[in-house]
Amino acid sequence: MNIVKTIKEVRENVKQWRKEGLSVGLVPTMGYLHEGHESLIKRAVAENDRVVVSVFVNPMQFGPTEDLASYPRDIDADSRLCEAAGASLIFHPEPEEMYEEGFCSFVDMTGLTNALCGLSRPVHFRGVCTVVNKLFNIVMPDKAYFGEKDAQQLAVVKRMVKDLNMDIEIVGCPIIREADGLAKSSRNTYLSPESRKQAVILSKSIFMAKQMVLDGERDAAKVKKAMVDMINTMPLADIDYVEIVDVNTMKNIDKIEGNILCAIAVNIGGEARLIDNFMLSLSNA
Ligand code: AMP
Repeated sequence: MNIVKTIKEVRENVKQWRKEGLSVGLVPTMGYLHEGHESLIKRAVAENDRVVVSVFVNPMQFGPTEDLASYPRDIDADSRLCEAAGASLIFHPEPEEMYEEGFCSFVDMTGLTNALCGLSRPVHFRGVCTVVNKLFNIVMPDKAYFGEKDAQQLAVVKRMVKDLNMDIEIVGCPIIREADGLAKSSRNTYLSPESRKQAVILSKSIFMAKQMVLDGERDAAKVKKAMVDMINTMPLADIDYVEIVDVNTMKNIDKIEGNILCAIAVNIGGEARLIDNFMLSLSNA
């Protein structure tokens, strides 16, 4: 497995693979890889002849007061994980390689991004769509892998690919969790021991809400209230949002039906903003 830092080197590798008739999968990441990322890489390895993992902390998707500078980085550990998982190439560019001087083209989206994380993080999805678009143009993969952990991101990328007629299959992969239920995240490393304990309330509230819906509850307000009450039992938890939306439109719903996304974002101890969710397809009967 190779690590390359330039777009030119990625293209040379991919060109050679294409000459050999090989299929190519892409797993975009910001690095500090854990078992969640690993599950995406392994799925990509199982479904493609060659897999490119990008490791790039994309400055464009961070707001001015967010954690760009402190975001954890460890390319040596990342490359060990990628190699063991069967990846063929890591693309690890510097910001200047991705954003040359004079850079001024962006991929922006309306609608789907005016909800959930898009409201709390106004520049986030413009940065995500732009960098994902660039990565697609650089690697030109057959398939690209994204986690359901970032459910809105997955919906946004699927929509972008459809709207802009990109010939790439977007594969969503299930959320990988710690033993106590907390969704794995590079940002979990920000948590102090006490915050880490209290962070379990995110997944607990998600599991509880999912069970309420599976048991037949269809009133979104009731489910959200139960979640808010549960999360608020933890003194270090500060809710950003608790929402139930239609997964196709990201619009809030009152009655739970169709394809729904229940998503939450919670600040824990002022140390980390964590997200979690569940998705369900319900018959409208
Ligand atoms: P990130 O490095 O946080 O930008 O994540 C890169 C990709 O890994 C995204 O598609 C995430 O949704 C996915 N991912 C991150 N954490 C998890 C997890 N716990 N389970 C599944 N996928 C994940």
